[in-house]
Amino acid sequence: MRQSYASIDLSALMQNLRLLKGAAPHSDSLAVVKADAYGNGAVEIAKHIAPEVNMLAVAMLDEAIPLREAGINLPILVLQGPHQASELSATDAYNLHWMIHNKHQLEWLEQHQASKQNAIDNLGARLWLKFDTGMHRLGFDIDDFDTVLHNHRHLTNSSTVIATHLACADEQDRTHTDQQISRFLQGVKNAGMRLSVANSAGALAHASAQQDINRIGIALYGSSPFDTSHSTFGVNDSIGLKAVMTLTAKIIGLRTIPKGDTVGYGGTWTASKPSTIATVAIGYADGYPRHAPNGTPAICRGQRIKLVGRVSMDMLTFDVSELDDVALYDEVELWGKQLPINEIARFVGTIGYELMTRISARVPRRYTTK
Ligand SMILES: *Cc1c(COP(=O)(O)O)cnc(C)c1O
Repeated sequence: MRQSYASIDLSALMQNLRLLKGAAPHSDSLAVVKADAYGNGAVEIAKHIAPEVNMLAVAMLDEAIPLREAGINLPILVLQGPHQASELSATDAYNLHWMIHNKHQLEWLEQHQASKQNAIDNLGARLWLKFDTGMHRLGFDIDDFDTVLHNHRHLTNSSTVIATHLACADEQDRTHTDQQISRFLQGVKNAGMRLSVANSAGALAHASAQQDINRIGIALYGSSPFDTSHSTFGVNDSIGLKAVMTLTAKIIGLRTIPKGDTVGYGGTWTASKPSTIATVAIGYADGYPRHAPNGTPAICRGQRIKLVGRVSMDMLTFDVSELDDVALYDEVELWGKQLPINEIARFVGTIGYELMTRISARVPRRYTTK
């Protein structure tokens, strides 16, 4: 049996949720479980979190269906909206809410509502309208708010959610975020509908982004959305988030090599002294980043070790010469409880989001509640 696994700590998940709810006590919480709950396993995460959140969100219809088939009953928001008109016919059966961001989607909804047999039940309460306030990715221009609302008034009601997405809420410089929020609030003034602005970073760092419902992703999973080198926000621990995913693999090979020998494909690391090299059973096919450089840390027996040589498809090599003791089949933590994922992300030049979502299906997820 595979000895490499991602353990998913569901009690850490709930602690993170409570921390986020505490930080935004006047907002409802929507848990974003797209991309298999950022690699943590959408069905398990959704089941566990369901009693304490108001809604779930996925990126596209295909991600919503397995959640329903697993018996999860919370409303699910589809963040990209329908990709084609026919997807709307799943709305009632799957209890879906749609984030609508372009004019085609609005036309599809109009057509749907025009045909009596197809009409979506209580569409207004299932409709989110996305407005672009400066992210420039998806959404109607906020300057067109009145026109969009006026032209499609009959699709909406007071339960309709008006949303925008923040581009820079994780940054120390608040200018861009403040600008987006004020453009949004000015644009929607007196709409008499529900509002949604904040992602994790918005909910944690920008009180004015906390509106009726916050869309929380990465922070639930315990990776700080903030660049952890920023002094204001500090590392994970200082905002109190707990790592949910701990990635572990075992040492399956152990050898001593002489000074001057190299390790791995291309011989990219040379031993400057006789060294003990541990081969660990996880690689880029499991989602460990191939570009992790020499020196990327991991933890073995509570001590830090350093990656040496190239990441292979199924294996990593570490210099364990400094360990007091080491043995075949010892466990190595690649990131998680003892080693923040953001620290590895910094070594690799990416973010925790990418590392987490890329852990492949080959890695079993083991759920713990402590
Ligand atoms: C993914 C996503 C979120 C969640 O963002 P986090 O930074 O993970 O909290 C919120 N809103 C939208 C529209 C998203 O696509």
